[in-house]
Amino acid sequence: MSQAELAIRNAHIVDGTGAAAVKGDVAVSGDKIVAVGKFDGAAAREIDAHGHVLSPGFIDVHTHYDPQLCWDRLATPSLEHGVTTVVVGNCSLSLAPVHQSGTRKLVRMFGKIEDIKEPTFDEGVPFKWESFGQYLDFIRPGLGINVGALVGHSALRYYVMGAESQERVATDAEIATMCELMEGAMAAGAIGLSTSYVDIDENLRPVPSRLADMREKMALCKAMAKSGRGTLQTVPYFIDPEQQLKNIEELAELSLGSGVFCTIAPIVYSPAAPDNYKRNLAKLDEQRARGAKVFGQSMPRAFNINIRLSETSFLLYGVPSWNALMQLDVPKRIAAFGERTSREKLVKDAERAILPLLYGAIVGEVYNPSNQKYLGRRLAEIAKEQGKSMPDVMLDIAVADDLRTEFRINEIVHGDPEIVAQILDHPSIHIGASDAGAHVSQFCGAGDTSDLFDRFVRQFHKLTLERAVHRLTAEPADAWGIKNRGRIAVGAAADLTLFDPETIARGKEEFVSDFPGGGNRYIRHAQGIEKVIVNGKVVVDSGKYTEARAGQIV
Ligand SMILES: [Zn+2]
Repeated sequence: MSQAELAIRNAHIVDGTGAAAVKGDVAVSGDKIVAVGKFDGAAAREIDAHGHVLSPGFIDVHTHYDPQLCWDRLATPSLEHGVTTVVVGNCSLSLAPVHQSGTRKLVRMFGKIEDIKEPTFDEGVPFKWESFGQYLDFIRPGLGINVGALVGHSALRYYVMGAESQERVATDAEIATMCELMEGAMAAGAIGLSTSYVDIDENLRPVPSRLADMREKMALCKAMAKSGRGTLQTVPYFIDPEQQLKNIEELAELSLGSGVFCTIAPIVYSPAAPDNYKRNLAKLDEQRARGAKVFGQSMPRAFNINIRLSETSFLLYGVPSWNALMQLDVPKRIAAFGERTSREKLVKDAERAILPLLYGAIVGEVYNPSNQKYLGRRLAEIAKEQGKSMPDVMLDIAVADDLRTEFRINEIVHGDPEIVAQILDHPSIHIGASDAGAHVSQFCGAGDTSDLFDRFVRQFHKLTLERAVHRLTAEPADAWGIKNRGRIAVGAAADLTLFDPETIARGKEEFVSDFPGGGNRYIRHAQGIEKVIVNGKVVVDSGKYTEARAGQIV
């Protein structure tokens, strides 16, 4: 009789390939799956999975856990949502390669673009590395989750060119150096490169990757392709829809010229430009038809954002007077926003720039008893009642709370489930774009996978269970070159998620203060996820993290 370490019995097995679910057992030994279907042997640990779905662990291809993994090797809360592999280093930003003299620049770019604050970096990220491989060696011990790592083009370019990386195209010699580093990173375990066509740094200047010309991009793609795999992740210039379509064409050229897979994030539905998503999908289809591997990423979640004036808000970048005050430390910020003499200008500026956003704003968490009466109410309604403008009322409420009030801006972008379902089901789209680990004081991107099953499978019947699992497992594993994962098959890595299809949900957002340096963030605790198994070890058991740490760099 064969012997296994773990046997999961009577599960509804959804194997990740898209094939119909079957009832049966899965057995695990070491970090591999050793039996699927029927297992007559004995196991050191038996799990009765009756009534539950057993799927491959989910893969989240778009996260920014690079800093968090330095102090939290579980990448909470993604792991408890059944995510067993996260891809980091997206959007042109990674924490290596880096010179000691360049760490502050990386921290500030990360702070600006991904909303991880400097005190959090100072306490949580020791920068005890220079090369990309050394960064991977730093996070590897004690990993609870698997990590696929992209090299950030802005980090790479800054490492080679310094401040001039934000001023000019690279010389042939600089491109050659970048390519050498890229090859070294791939050899050390990277899965590809990320670049950005749109982001700006802490001084509102284009990030280094935006200064790269086509010869640099093509050379880097060819350099990574030498390893036999290669992904190019990108953020398009979404500010101008025509430019975004041109970005897709450029990516197609890069893919055709080098063989790499290109992914562009995010493709979302916005009622302000209702046909945009269709044009993007058509462009992706057109380029794929000529053989380019170029795909979009989208997510099930509506683009919901919370503004707290005590934190960070990218929605306020376009309002210079507000944005300037948001750069002050919090005590100074409280004083500045409370200043009556500057109020008129602040109100006028916000009216010009963000009034449509504020129409959708709801008062969420409040702190001062005098604000209790506003809880759950629309800012627009309160303003009407008081005969004031919305930004004025927003400031009154926020100042009374020392700026901590939560204003929820919901469902403005990507909120229509009919259209979102079409995007999520489209063959030129992958499910990604969660941004988990980023923008942490504005929303929680972790939990999108649970949301997909809750709303788009169970409530709206837009995707079958099998298709949803396929989209979160084998499909991204194959596209991103993550080998031997994403399927329940004999010999595959034992990354498994056991969940209740009737109750799986992403849970409510909670604002917690658990980041180094006194940082705050939004998290969500998963519902309906019974067990999460990473490389054969149960890491989440009935919703609780165990001591097992079996994550790998993939
Ligand atoms: Zn991102």
